[in-house]
Amino acid sequence: MLQDLQEISDGKIYSVNDMVRAACKDCEGCHACCEKMGDSIVLDPLDVYRLTEATGKDFQALLADTIELHVTDGMILPSLKMAGETERCVFLDEAGRCSIHALRPGLCRVFPLGRIYEERQIKYFLQKDACQKPGRSKVKVGKWLDMTEPKAYERFLLAWHGFRRSVQAQLTDAWNEQTAKTANMLILNLFYGTPYDKEGDFYVQFGERVNQAERALGIEAAD
Ligand code: SF4
Ligand code: SF4
Repeated sequence: MLQDLQEISDGKIYSVNDMVRAACKDCEGCHACCEKMGDSIVLDPLDVYRLTEATGKDFQALLADTIELHVTDGMILPSLKMAGETERCVFLDEAGRCSIHALRPGLCRVFPLGRIYEERQIKYFLQKDACQKPGRSKVKVGKWLDMTEPKAYERFLLAWHGFRRSVQAQLTDAWNEQTAKTANMLILNLFYGTPYDKEGDFYVQFGERVNQAERALGIEAAD
């Protein structure tokens, strides 16, 4: 893992308070990372919640034209759809700008950084060849992520990552095909398909759903 990281990164590990050479002049004239991304922009429950806010569509309606489902290590998860001959993200506007910038998904937000989860903390690395924009300047990692409640967001990411790891361990080692199918449907419905109360706190509701899912699936979140 560390060797892989050396190969794809600049060799440094960053925390939210570190400066990293990621600022790309507001992406002026470039939308390279909004095209031909395949199913790599995987969406977490907060991403989909924010897409419902940005578009006014529910999860089912998003599935019709904006996002799609794919399987990662046995887990069925939504990702951003790349559409048309040029395989563009459907949120890229005619001027080549992101039409949902303030509510863009977490993986768009963090790019060209990547996340490392270890010991109940999130660290970051700079993906060496991910952004080709010349003359990038330094920016604090936390500022680059541009989230309004950074601590709550980090707790959410850690909780979702731990939950996913637990599920993926069961999918690999314990559950048969039918159990895996039932678990995947439960997770999709509970975390993505069932609307969150927009008057309430997303993070609190998400935490309640993690507890509910763990009880239903008989698992405990991994560290
Ligand atoms: S490749 Fe870099 S400059 Fe181009 S859109 Fe992505 S982050 Fe911005
Ligand atoms: S949501 Fe916005 S930033 Fe993310 S790939 Fe689509 S257009 Fe690009």
